[in-house]
Amino acid sequence: MTEHDLADRRAVVTGGASGIGLACAKEFAGRGAHVIIADLNAEAAAAAADEIGGEAWAVDLSDTSALDALELQADILVNNAGIQRVSPIAEFDPDAFRLIQRIMLEAPFLLIRAVLPGMYERGWGRIINISSVHGLRASAFKSAYVAAKHGLEGLSKVTALEGGSHGVTSNCINPGYVRTPLVEKQIADQARLHGIPESEVVERIMLTESAIKRLVEATEVASLAGWLASDAAGMVTGASYTMDGGWSAR
Ligand code: NAD
Repeated sequence: MTEHDLADRRAVVTGGASGIGLACAKEFAGRGAHVIIADLNAEAAAAAADEIGGEAWAVDLSDTSALDALELQADILVNNAGIQRVSPIAEFDPDAFRLIQRIMLEAPFLLIRAVLPGMYERGWGRIINISSVHGLRASAFKSAYVAAKHGLEGLSKVTALEGGSHGVTSNCINPGYVRTPLVEKQIADQARLHGIPESEVVERIMLTESAIKRLVEATEVASLAGWLASDAAGMVTGASYTMDGGWSAR
């Protein structure tokens, strides 16, 4: 880690109160950035902001029409907030499908739209989209999540093309399964769907395609986000960086 190389940078991290977002918030704050934690969970966002000396922004990113006229000042935007629902398509609740598109695709579009004018004015910006290996590959029972993440990949690439001449980069990070509360919840759902005990889900379902048989740690994802935010990554844009233990090498 480069000491305080992000001093004077203002970073907004959505879903920053838990898991990968919290790890990113800590990484940026540790490198000197002022971090705004945008999260549905107001209490957890306030606690996290206190811990890192940042700010909390209690916001429901599924309420996308409230974001239409937003103006946001930030040098770094991490689109990270996300949820998961696991169900076969024929039984997939249409409202759950729409909710996932709003939080994980519409809100990133609206936040990017809200930060770009300021970034263009200052001639510098970093958009970091926490996608997934499911932005590049599909898995059964995850239609809404896979669709939203594939959409995010496209949004990130268009942002890269438009932002290039303004000093703004846009990239995706594509982790495999990361040890966070979101994954802990999935273990129970997957056990039910596949009819196997919870104790077997990680190795038999989650890590079958992975060459390295362990979950990714949130701090590992955050360190890649930190590098993407740095000046050293100025020529990296429109890219999707996997961190999946070799899953997508197949
Ligand atoms: P998490 O459940 O630990 O944290 C998600 C955060 O998002 C929570 O703090 C939650 O309150 C917030 N959030 C949820 N809905 C929101 C809303 N409507 N408005 C504002 N905030 C909201 O999850 P995580 O595992 O850290 O996942 C973060 C991101 O990483 C997600 O986009 C997820 O798809 C992606 N990802 C996770 C994994 C994994 O294995 N955990 C793998 C690949 C990608």
